[in-house]
Amino acid sequence: MKYDVYDLAVLGCGPAGFSAAINANIRNKKVIVIGSDICSPPLHKAQKIDNYLGFPGISGAELLDKFMEHFKASDIELIENKAEAINEMDGIYSILVQDQVLQAKSIVISTGIPYKPTFANEEEFLGKGLGYCATCDGPIYKERDVIIISYSSEGESEANFMAEICQKVYYVPLYKTLGSLDKKIAVIDNKPAELIISEFVEGIKMQDGSILKADGVFILGGETAPDRLIPGLEVADNHIKVNRQQETNLPGVFAAGDCTGQPYQVAKSVGEGLVAGLNASKYVSRLSKV
Ligand SMILES: Cc1cc2nc3c(=O)[nH]c(=O)nc-3n(C[C@H](O)[C@H](O)[C@H](O)COP(=O)(O)OP(=O)(O)OC[C@H]3O[C@@H](n4cnc5c(N)ncnc54)[C@H](O)[C@@H]3O)c2cc1C
Repeated sequence: MKYDVYDLAVLGCGPAGFSAAINANIRNKKVIVIGSDICSPPLHKAQKIDNYLGFPGISGAELLDKFMEHFKASDIELIENKAEAINEMDGIYSILVQDQVLQAKSIVISTGIPYKPTFANEEEFLGKGLGYCATCDGPIYKERDVIIISYSSEGESEANFMAEICQKVYYVPLYKTLGSLDKKIAVIDNKPAELIISEFVEGIKMQDGSILKADGVFILGGETAPDRLIPGLEVADNHIKVNRQQETNLPGVFAAGDCTGQPYQVAKSVGEGLVAGLNASKYVSRLSKV
């Protein structure tokens, strides 16, 4: 990392995040972007985009390449990983990214469509046999049985790690192309329906009615509920509440793109990213004058 404290940390490297970062960088701010290895999985999947001005008929992957090219020309730092937790102290935000903590005076959240819980009672059973990071809780489940539900191939490395220490690992992939998994892992080709519970989680019932019993259940790759990322962040109807300046209820925290609500479109994300990036820059400039 280039700096001890950044002016702006942008969470997410989709159209909204890139737009916020580039605009704050033009305002001479120290910017860092935290995002997944495929920036913008939804845009990458879009076969043909006909409504982004100036690029009729372009594929999502091509448009993303153009955004990436523009971003790379700016020399802004990019960490290819996800922010796991954020805390504020004396106006500085500390962001946990895997095993490193970075600090910033302001934040733009542009993490895409917010995660909808997989199970109705998910919140209640978090920490009671249900978790979002298998490797973090690995030691607790040594020589026991676990179920890993994953929305992306990123879950495969966690499943392989758990296979080394657990008695049994069930893997429920909620995506199409499966990569390489340890032979010990039982892959379940069905969708989860509900948690089986008593005081703790005891397993899951699948949509075909079959039952998987386990000591722990992990849901990976779908866990970025923004209000879980930043305690106290106001959400409404599963989206981050913002005003027209893209300000949230927390000082120095802005949000842009699909995470703030519909329409889920590239042009809206780029526009909101611009407003968030400029207002985050103004916020930081004001801080230095106080
Ligand atoms: C099949 C399909 C077709 C589409 N067609 C069109 C179309 O024709 N026209 C159009 O305008 N739009 C279309 N869209 C929608 C468009 O792709 C989205 O509106 C746009 O990508 C939203 O941009 P965003 O930056 O808000 O979020 P995203 O592009 O979703 O980017 C969010 C990024 O944040 C990352 N992230 C999530 N959590 C964290 C975290 N905790 N820390 C760090 N990073 C995190 C994600 O991995 C992702 O990279 C389509 C989408 C799909 C799926």
